[in-house]
Amino acid sequence: AHEIRLASRPEGFPTPENFDLAEVPVPTPGAGQLLVRTLVMSVDPYMRGRMNDAKSYVAPYEVGKALEGGAVGEVVLSNAPGFAVGDTVLHGLGWREYAVVDAEQAAKVDPQRAPLGAYLGVLGMPGLTAYAGLVDVAGLKEGDVVFVSGAAGAVGQVAGQVAKLRGASRVIGSAGTDAKVEYLIDELGFDAAFNYKDAPVAEQLAAAAPDGVDVFFDNVGGDHLEAAIASFTLHGRAALCGSISGYNATESTRPPGPRNLGLAVGKRLTLRGFLVWDHAHLRDQFEREVTAWIAEGRLRYRETITEGGLAKAPEAFLGMLRGENTGKALVTF
Ligand code: NDP
Repeated sequence: AHEIRLASRPEGFPTPENFDLAEVPVPTPGAGQLLVRTLVMSVDPYMRGRMNDAKSYVAPYEVGKALEGGAVGEVVLSNAPGFAVGDTVLHGLGWREYAVVDAEQAAKVDPQRAPLGAYLGVLGMPGLTAYAGLVDVAGLKEGDVVFVSGAAGAVGQVAGQVAKLRGASRVIGSAGTDAKVEYLIDELGFDAAFNYKDAPVAEQLAAAAPDGVDVFFDNVGGDHLEAAIASFTLHGRAALCGSISGYNATESTRPPGPRNLGLAVGKRLTLRGFLVWDHAHLRDQFEREVTAWIAEGRLRYRETITEGGLAKAPEAFLGMLRGENTGKALVTF
């Protein structure tokens, strides 16, 4: 069997040399554990943060050790009551062909209810992030004008549609290619969208939201946050979800933060960071609502799937950081 280890910590944008495909024996589960064969794994922006040796909300990956992340696999050996061979489970030990998972860390998922990849995307962590950011964090209200940055990604594609489905009057999205902009407008029903590479974000946002923005769901940070602050109406609210524009920066290339934060006082803004794991209480409501919307054809989503298994995972991860994915980036085994 194989696992992918962190070979070295990246300086700036990561490279394939930062990853090491290592051969390992198939591990043996102990009492209360499962042996799980990976079927699909997730590559996520937060993994870039864990490649740094920096104090953060999750521990850094260790050099020479296997990476971790969301994955769905098939139970091939069970030493835990309640799990049988053949069950499919969601767990946090991706980047491996075989994982030994504590039963408490495994959640059964139903392949009849949704394709397995959905449990890592639209019905999983990224979907809940979108939902919680709007409902709990930004306090989305009917009639709000909503701006979503990184709108064609795993979180963003759900955020924009949930905003609309829960009563936003106008939803604007930004993304990094013209094809993604088309996807947002033509397939997802965004009212307006722009390519942030075409012209300054502040200009494009002002044109798309002539009456201002009430809610900003931010995946990008930097110039996007600065533009939202400029466009905010009185009592505007931002759910600060991520700031991917800075994830690969070094001290010297780090883009300036919002330079107009002073406007937050007069506009009485709320700029609120959040982590999805603090919003687990919304999970049932989120699953019910989103599952129904998908079944009714009112919420659509895409996945960008890299086939070929573990060896392809580093390239899938780097591709996601470069913006090659539309919707959730996944690797199938
Ligand atoms: P995505 O599927 O959106 O993939 C990342 C996307 O980021 C790329 O496709 C690319 O799209 C965009 N991107 C890359 N570099 C830049 C840049 N310099 N400027 C602007 N956009 C860039 O990933 P996710 O949906 O999984 O995650 C989106 C955000 O949400 C991330 O910031 C992530 O850290 C955050 N997050 C936060 C959570 C929380 O609990 N707070 C939980 C989950 C995710 P493009 O072509 O548009 O540039």
